[in-house]
Amino acid sequence: MSSPLQTLASLLTAGILLASEPIQLVAPQHNPADLLLVNRGWRISGQYYPEVRVADVPGQVRQLRPEAAEALEEMFAACLEEAGVQLISVSGYRPYDKQERIYERKLERVNGSRAKADAYVALPGASEHQTGLSMDVGQKGKDKDTLGASFADTEGGKWLRENCWRFGFILRYDEGWEATTGYSYEPWHIRYVGRVHAAALQAAPMPLEDYLLRVRQERLRTVLELE
Ligand SMILES: [Zn+2]
Repeated sequence: MSSPLQTLASLLTAGILLASEPIQLVAPQHNPADLLLVNRGWRISGQYYPEVRVADVPGQVRQLRPEAAEALEEMFAACLEEAGVQLISVSGYRPYDKQERIYERKLERVNGSRAKADAYVALPGASEHQTGLSMDVGQKGKDKDTLGASFADTEGGKWLRENCWRFGFILRYDEGWEATTGYSYEPWHIRYVGRVHAAALQAAPMPLEDYLLRVRQERLRTVLELE
């Protein structure tokens, strides 16, 4: 018979061992909303419809969860004040059925090849935009840089990289993280995780997938120390 403590100890060991394995084996699916994980391996249900509201910022597709919308408004105002640059919303919350239509249209255009469709469009349930916590950001008057790697070189793109953590956002798909996140470098795609986690990730940048493993291991350690 193993004691609860021994059981927890083996769980901790298992957690550490699994940390070197693909994220699919260990990704937590019961995180608080701020840390919800959605990627190509961990898809969100078609029944998942978060509460959203329209953020009071310039641009289009401006719906986000209320806490993320408020943070976005504060951030855009700060960027205008500090850098004299007007950031704009390009694409925020996107419901499951809309992603489904986008994917199906793509599938038709590539003659039904799922491999080809997947390379360009996230499967329904695999897009972080369905959480209501993600936003594609652009800079007013810089249309050619919208949703392109060159956005990183714009004033707005630079300011966003350096300052989004202050408002609880992270750059979700940074350069060199493709193997972990499953998505190419996207300097325009930010994700709301709240100020505490955003500050931790600013101090030690890593993909959200890796960060969630650490959070989970920390939780296990805390439980063990309490015993
Ligand atoms: Zn995006």
